[in-house]
Amino acid sequence: MAGAGRRVRDGTRWGDDDVRRDAAREGDDLRQTRSIVGVDLGGTKMAVGLVDGEGTICDLAVSPAVTTSTEACLAEIERRLDRAVADYGQIDAIGVGTASMVDFRGGRIVLSTNLPLRDVKLRDLLATRYGVPVAVDNDANVACLAEHRYGAGRGTSEMVMLTLGTGIGGGIITGGRLYRGASGAAGELGHMVIDFDGPRCQGACPNSGCLEVYASGRAMGRAALEAARARPDSGLGRALAAGEEVRGPLLSRLALAGDPVAVEVLDGIGQKLGVGIANIVNIFNPEIVVVGGGAAEAADILLGAARRVVAARALRPQRDEVRIEPAQHGNEAGLLGAAALAMVELFPEQSPAGERST
Ligand SMILES: [Zn+2]
Repeated sequence: MAGAGRRVRDGTRWGDDDVRRDAAREGDDLRQTRSIVGVDLGGTKMAVGLVDGEGTICDLAVSPAVTTSTEACLAEIERRLDRAVADYGQIDAIGVGTASMVDFRGGRIVLSTNLPLRDVKLRDLLATRYGVPVAVDNDANVACLAEHRYGAGRGTSEMVMLTLGTGIGGGIITGGRLYRGASGAAGELGHMVIDFDGPRCQGACPNSGCLEVYASGRAMGRAALEAARARPDSGLGRALAAGEEVRGPLLSRLALAGDPVAVEVLDGIGQKLGVGIANIVNIFNPEIVVVGGGAAEAADILLGAARRVVAARALRPQRDEVRIEPAQHGNEAGLLGAAALAMVELFPEQSPAGERST
């Protein structure tokens, strides 16, 4: 299907870099020819696309998420998939990644903060309707699979992924497999405590001093605003006075431009992140820790600070062996990961040895 080129509909497209990358892959031989439809079901948008075995998005449609009711939300998913099936002809599987709590083994969306989906057996519902195997998982796991199969972690067997968003999503690959734990809830790396007496965590977490209190995208926004108020003479302070939105993206932009206060704030957050990563390095001895989400633009500053802390705090030999790298996929990670999930779970014989979840 890669030969058909990629179409992007509904006025939304990923960055030009992605288009260039697709063009570069046009001539590549495909290792396999499965037609996988990936669905990225987020709290604000839904992306449905055809992804080939090399992780090339051959066709993509993006639309706002429908949040008015469960029925309307499911109807929109089916409307989009109907169209995909009509457009693509024969499809082999559907993979869904969603910003929800998911019972992977049951194929069920347990609960979603931003979508009206609660106790919905999405896997069986879609499998029955479309007559193909379906896999459903949460966004943190599929982002991890996207980077492991098609991104920064390609070729590794021990990998940990952190996604800095509203919270911090985590994913663990061990022995080439996604680690899910006894009840599928493993990988909540954002809730590792890095300060016993730290501030209360957010959402449903009863803990205090969790990593995500200090290093999530939301925490970056908070730190940027505090710095802007405390230092009105800084770039952040001037932006605040000018009525600009002082959040993570501005912090990254100013830090990259060399604003010393912004660099200091981002470096401080990177150090906190480094404490968390040092724990991960000691426990899992990964080949690579991939960091995605917020501050992707200023990854050198953020991850530079994290690497310094890991070098100082983690144990040998694991600290000398680990690479700490930015994710290679941004907006498209959910869609690619959903397709990777379907490949890994439904066609394990076409995946690298053992690349199937436990
Ligand atoms: Zn927590």
